[in-house]
Amino acid sequence: MKPGSDLHIHMALDGSDWKDAMGRHIERPDEAFIRSTLQEYKDTGITFLRDGGDKYGACMAAQKLAAEYGITYIAPAFPIHKRGHYGGFIGRGWSTIDEYCELAEEAADKGADFIKIMISGLMDFNEAGRLTESSLNDDEILTIIDEAHDLGYAVMAHCNGSEAAIAAARAGVESIEHGAFLNKEALHAMADAGTVWIPTLSPIANLIGCGRFPDKALKYDLMTAQENIKYAVRIGIPIGCGSDAGAYMVPHVKGALTEYDLLHDTLGEKTDEVLANGEAIIKKMFSFASD
Ligand SMILES: [Zn+2]
Repeated sequence: MKPGSDLHIHMALDGSDWKDAMGRHIERPDEAFIRSTLQEYKDTGITFLRDGGDKYGACMAAQKLAAEYGITYIAPAFPIHKRGHYGGFIGRGWSTIDEYCELAEEAADKGADFIKIMISGLMDFNEAGRLTESSLNDDEILTIIDEAHDLGYAVMAHCNGSEAAIAAARAGVESIEHGAFLNKEALHAMADAGTVWIPTLSPIANLIGCGRFPDKALKYDLMTAQENIKYAVRIGIPIGCGSDAGAYMVPHVKGALTEYDLLHDTLGEKTDEVLANGEAIIKKMFSFASD
């Protein structure tokens, strides 16, 4: 089987240096790059894409062009992070809840299909099991998810670590992206709330052997994520195939294929059934404005 979708990509990025990639879109989104990437997805039979957003609007340019390529493309305008926390390179920042609400409304005005929030740090690939920073506090997580829901939007959350995942699941977040280092309590909170999990294994797996980070830490992080995915499926968490294409060493299109293979390594013969279910739920929850 080949995946017919990638539920987590960044059109603005290209799998290499993020500064160079973002630089291409500063003045206006790079339409030639976007068109050739959409064509490549089309040629591979990938017809549904969900973008995690970028601050220069490459994702929204892609959302508008995608129909020409027979692709359904949903996007959040830009990801929204708290200033001083992870997300500044690709998203827009808030310091007060009022500022957050203004950004969410601006995303809505720009034609966002859903709201994308950043509520935790990144995996620190130098050390197994470690994140780069602590997450937002529970009240902040609850409030920003509530505000997006009040506007009528589903919420995609960049979220690593158990604390943030528990808070987000209890607040009713629709999807948790990455979800590194989740403990059983976090996984059960997600199962109870019906949260979809997009584990994005490719950005970890593709680094193995590249020499930039210790392979031992990468392999440990990948293995624990795969163990968590098996457990998540057992307790009924919907899982989706999203590669974080555009992230370092995760090229567009190939990302989706790698992610599928990694999930297949994890789930075996159940893979297609599990991923079809996850994709159907994502389509139902997130295709707000584009239907
Ligand atoms: Zn992402």
